[in-house]
Amino acid sequence: MIFQFLGTSAGEQYPAFWCRCENCRKARERGGRNIRKNSCAWISPNIMLDFSPDVFTQAEKFGIDLTDLEYLFVTHSHGDHFNLFPFGWRYLNPKIALPPSKDAVAARFTPLKTLHVVGNHLVCRALDERLVQKTGFKLEDCAMRLHQAEPFRENTAGPAGYIPLRANHMEHNGEKDALNYILFLNGKTILYALDTGWFLPETYEVIRRFQYDLAVVEGTFGYGAEWESHMNFRKLEEAFLLFKKDGLLKPGASFCASHLTPHFSPIHEEIAPVLADKGITVAYDGMKLEI
Ligand SMILES: [Zn+2]
Ligand SMILES: [Zn+2]
Ligand SMILES: [Zn+2]
Repeated sequence: MIFQFLGTSAGEQYPAFWCRCENCRKARERGGRNIRKNSCAWISPNIMLDFSPDVFTQAEKFGIDLTDLEYLFVTHSHGDHFNLFPFGWRYLNPKIALPPSKDAVAARFTPLKTLHVVGNHLVCRALDERLVQKTGFKLEDCAMRLHQAEPFRENTAGPAGYIPLRANHMEHNGEKDALNYILFLNGKTILYALDTGWFLPETYEVIRRFQYDLAVVEGTFGYGAEWESHMNFRKLEEAFLLFKKDGLLKPGASFCASHLTPHFSPIHEEIAPVLADKGITVAYDGMKLEI
């Protein structure tokens, strides 16, 4: 199966929206893999991790048809990972007969498979408020179902088994509601840990029970800040060494860094070879992995 990164930046993107520092300027000048949009990923044929604001543009750029999407795992409600706006456009008024007459008004005129959204209580509440409470839609008319995930409660969504993990990442009112996911799919095991901060002890206890074909871990602040809510390259390398020590990476597994800010992660073409020497793959937008 193919795992493809559609975005690999942190919230402010890379180059940062409003910054002209050296890294941001270099990224604009050189383009290509140095340009990062907000983090999200696609697993063929129908699974996504996070739903960032640029996702439709990125999907078109990389040849992915998002109308195939059936299972969406959302890590948390921060705007760089979860964009509510496009979901309302899934609504199909059941009173409209198909094919539609020319005076019919709707954003969708074709059937869709049900989209199962797995997320924490804030993600589920935001979708329910936006689609059901405020707009008066029925979720089935948006071809959607919500599945509230609780930390460490193992469950399944279609072909994927999953364990939500408690991230060390403030989401709302100082609460650590953000989730990371372990996914079990087609005999493969994937860890998706953005935004995570250094692993909480109870979270690492669960992570270490499995061996991974792919681990995606944030390197957010690069050579910069030491924060609780986000990792930098020092913590990323420490995580990689810990995974190696504990034998968590299967032979041939990729340990990938994503969710990078320009402040202070160097541009991709400078940092990728440096981290590759240490065994860490720096992801870039559009990067495909066969796992
Ligand atoms: Zn983020
Ligand atoms: Zn900058
Ligand atoms: Zn966040």
